[in-house]
Amino acid sequence: MACEKAGRVTPATIVDHVLALAEGGADDDGNRQALCKRHHDAKSAAEAARGRARRRLQRS
Ligand SMILES: [Zn+2]
Repeated sequence: MACEKAGRVTPATIVDHVLALAEGGADDDGNRQALCKRHHDAKSAAEAARGRARRRLQRS
C-alpha cells in the first residue's frame, strides 16, 4: 500500500490515526490511514506541539 498523501509514491509503513487518540480520535478503521514514516513523523510532531500548547493553557 502506498502512502495516502497526494503525489507521493513512498511506501506506507505506519498505520496512523487521522485524528490523534489524544485529540479525541476513535480507535477504529474509519480513523486510520496508512502513511510513510516521513509524513507520520511530521504529523506526530505537530500533534505533540498541540498537546504541549493544550497543557500550557490548562495550567494558566
Ligand atoms: Zn508520506
